Amino acid sequence: MAPKKYLLSLGLIASTVVSTYFVTVSTAQQPVLETADNDYQVAAVLYMQKAAEYRALAYQAFNLAKWQLDADLDKKNVKKLPKAERKMPRAIVVDIDETVLDNSPAQAYAIKNRRPFNLPDWYAWGEMRKAKAIPGSVEFLNYAVSKGVKIFYISNRDEVQKQATIDNLKSVGFPDISAENVLTRTKESGKDARRAIAAAKHRIVLLMGDNLDDFTSAFEKKSVSDRFAEVDKMKTLWGRNFIVLSNAMYGTWESAIYEYNRLTEAQKAAKRASSLELP
Ligand SMILES: [Mg+2]
Repeated sequence: MAPKKYLLSLGLIASTVVSTYFVTVSTAQQPVLETADNDYQVAAVLYMQKAAEYRALAYQAFNLAKWQLDADLDKKNVKKLPKAERKMPRAIVVDIDETVLDNSPAQAYAIKNRRPFNLPDWYAWGEMRKAKAIPGSVEFLNYAVSKGVKIFYISNRDEVQKQATIDNLKSVGFPDISAENVLTRTKESGKDARRAIAAAKHRIVLLMGDNLDDFTSAFEKKSVSDRFAEVDKMKTLWGRNFIVLSNAMYGTWESAIYEYNRLTEAQKAAKRASSLELP
């Protein structure tokens, strides 16, 4: 066997062994899933899939992003920057899920089958490479690349999902997709270290995300009221450097209601009910 061919078959065998091991282990470690009480998510999923208002909000976010980028590209504004930053190439940082890719079909599947969030289902959805682009996102990011801006896709999808994610992003038309700028989670879920990679050689003009943790680490593990207070402190940044996409289906906003505890379905339902503000 020619050395190249030999290496290729060795690689294929190794990857088969690794993936078989991975599937076996992940299935073996998967606890019996509690039946999820997720009917309460129906309105959130329908809003994303069926409300034209959701589409309008998404276009609004990407139109706003374009206006902010155009302002940043304006030479008059470049002169206002500190000298060291004037010649730095620009970058835009975007989150992936519910910022540029729409995973609402996976949420709908979970509701129909009363399944809680779990990694095997999540990975299986990712492997399908079927997520559609959020309205306005492909056009905006292609526009930014046409102006010489680098795009960093910083996501808490796991490293094992990286290739499928890259394939999905490419298939719906996103630009600037490579292993170097699609930054999945390797260690911690916090995104500061990965934002630092983006900022090492670029000036970050805009960050876009559906979760406050996509912008700074200031919100991490904060209570509902502290998240409010942090958002208020930064009120001039929203729509300027930080552009938020709506996601009522899931997010840290919900974990904060549960005070970041692992609760049973019944305990979560009780927390949600007691969190409602009544007249
Ligand atoms: Mg997201």
